[in-house]
Amino acid sequence: MNENIKSLPSRRGLRHRSISARWMVNTLSVAAVLLVVANICIYYFTRRYYYGSAESYIVSEANASQTILARLYDDLSANYSSEVRNMVESFGKKEQMELMSINVDGKVSLSSSGFSPDAEYFMPDYELALKSEDGLGIYRGEDNGEKILAVTTIIAKPSSNYSALRFVASLELIDDQINGVMAVSLTVSVFILLVVTFMGVYFVKSICVPLGKIGSTAKKLAKGDFSERIPVVSGDEIGQLSRAFNEMADELENSEQIKNDFISSVSHELRTPLTAIKGWSETLESGYDPETFKKGMKVITGETKRLEQMVEDLLDFSRIQSGHFTLQLTTIDLIAELEDAILIYIDKAKKENISLSYNEPEFMCAVVGDKNRLRQVFINIIDNALKYTEAGGSIEVEAQKTDSAVTVSVSDTGAGIAPDDLPKVKQKFYKANKTKHGSGIGLAVADEIITRHGGTLEIDSELGKGTTVTITLPLKTG
Ligand code: ADP
Repeated sequence: MNENIKSLPSRRGLRHRSISARWMVNTLSVAAVLLVVANICIYYFTRRYYYGSAESYIVSEANASQTILARLYDDLSANYSSEVRNMVESFGKKEQMELMSINVDGKVSLSSSGFSPDAEYFMPDYELALKSEDGLGIYRGEDNGEKILAVTTIIAKPSSNYSALRFVASLELIDDQINGVMAVSLTVSVFILLVVTFMGVYFVKSICVPLGKIGSTAKKLAKGDFSERIPVVSGDEIGQLSRAFNEMADELENSEQIKNDFISSVSHELRTPLTAIKGWSETLESGYDPETFKKGMKVITGETKRLEQMVEDLLDFSRIQSGHFTLQLTTIDLIAELEDAILIYIDKAKKENISLSYNEPEFMCAVVGDKNRLRQVFINIIDNALKYTEAGGSIEVEAQKTDSAVTVSVSDTGAGIAPDDLPKVKQKFYKANKTKHGSGIGLAVADEIITRHGGTLEIDSELGKGTTVTITLPLKTG
């Protein structure tokens, strides 16, 4: 199998998921992952902040109680047990938390919410406090399943009834607040996801819609329908692509037009001489006198030459296109080639009542070039000047030399070329004047020949006034 074909991805292997789907899945999944991470962080830090504040509030409360108890113990006049009892019963922050006293058996002896002697409490914070100083726990109460924060502080100088104080606060309110924060955060996240989705849809649409249009228009172009163009609505890359695509479509339409014109003009060009040849052959076949024979043969020879020239032009063009157009370079006298070309047209110009003037220069012009091709260029330019100049007009051929180049100009007082056509007449198959015979490739071939010689072929023209074709070629150095 051909290497190039092998390296192409198989159609079946191509992924068909649209750009929109890929874009949406990619951006939405990245945004969703980031938002999930953000929400986890928000939850973690909010919880830490709220629980931390509650903890430090209760711990400071416990420390303050410890300080008061220590002072009471040192005050010999005070009844320690009744002061502790009083402290628990008349606890001032009942609304925010509950204060309990625990006896030496680890049972709750008193509570600021009312005494409940038989109640068995689940108190891991007390167990912890017995082991270390930090008796703190968060768990669900066994009785009503409420989430609580409990801090137990061992009384430094305990009595049998009061060995520890336990502060218990409900976390339900705090949890409600955290849930509130999370609700806001999740709402914002959903909003962000919606914004990302809408922006993505808008963005992807602004790319995919024109791309789809370019695709469908390209298919139409491929089928030969050149009528459609892409609307250019922005100056961004898509706008530039649309503009470039439209330019390409214009070019294709133009070349299609040129091709069609070429086919019809070549067919026409072929038909005219063939009709003349056929007509005269038939006339001569059915008997003739010497005068008619001479005239007929002249027409047949002339038309055959025209056909031959046209075929030569077409062959040259095809050689240029395929890269097989080569030059046989030698050192030549350019003026000699120019004069050869002029000689061919002197009689014709006289017959057509066109004055062809040429002042023979006194210098030689040594040029490295292909003599036949350069003569062909001069013939083509002079032929055009004659073709597009009416009887009574004039053609002037001039050659000038500088230190490094030679310039040959052919000026006529003929039909001229319209400003719109002027930049295109050097294009292959372009005919500005369709009333005259011609395939529209003469100037294209001439320009190619001169360019390959390192020279330039320029055309100045004014419609109705005349045309000047100027050829400049570098002189041979050394
Ligand atoms: P064609 O075979 O049609 O003459 P060319 O390539 O030689 O093709 O010329 C291209 C077009 O340029 C012509 O169709 C004609 O319209 C225009 N043109 C060339 N030379 C002249 C000129 N001397 N005066 C007016 N128009 C010219």
